[in-house]
Amino acid sequence: MKIAPGIYSMGQDKGGNVHAYLLDDGQGLTLIDTLYDDDGNVVLAEIAKIGRTPADLKQIILTHAHKSHVGGVAALKKASGAAVSSHAWEVDIIAGRRKATPVGKIPRKPLAVVHLQLGLALGLGKHVACEVDRTLKAGDRVGPLEVVETPGHTPGCLSFWWPERRSLFVGDVIATWPELAPGWPGLTLDNPQNLRSVQQLTDFGNAEILGVGHGEPIIADAAARVREVSR
Ligand SMILES: [Zn+2]
Ligand SMILES: [Zn+2]
Repeated sequence: MKIAPGIYSMGQDKGGNVHAYLLDDGQGLTLIDTLYDDDGNVVLAEIAKIGRTPADLKQIILTHAHKSHVGGVAALKKASGAAVSSHAWEVDIIAGRRKATPVGKIPRKPLAVVHLQLGLALGLGKHVACEVDRTLKAGDRVGPLEVVETPGHTPGCLSFWWPERRSLFVGDVIATWPELAPGWPGLTLDNPQNLRSVQQLTDFGNAEILGVGHGEPIIADAAARVREVSR
């Protein structure tokens, strides 16, 4: 679904109302996260819907290596030949050489995500492994985006800023489902650190659009919502 010029949002009910974002900067396509399913079909359907082909996809960028976000990475890399990028800390998980760090088993709110917390606590939810081509760090450019390091949910969580479109993509640092919140405490490895990352994102004071990993994107005055969850 088009949410702004060159910005398309795709979602799945499973994986906690997970969302990914397809960006068209007039050169090629850049994909932020790959949704839950292994086949990448929701993303491939969106690419077809906007009149492009998988070969137009040049970059696949991963905010972090939880199953809901890396489900389709192997299939989409194969279909497109796109380069896959992530923070160095997440590389071995994406490549299947290490498991995602488990979280605690004691259920935490919101209740709608307790099943996901238990899955991560027990190490369930395998994705199809995929090698990462490029590691990203703060200040790097990838496609039209600037890289921002926002650790806390996981140590390698990345956010991305598209200055020309005043758009911020933050993965699981902030959620809008089931309600607007600074992430999900039960699935976040270091909550105080995640909150500091949210506070850092208030630097983007003119952000209009906020693409989150779970829930619908915010499409107007995003900076005010980021300030709201930073307190
Ligand atoms: Zn996550
Ligand atoms: Zn997630």
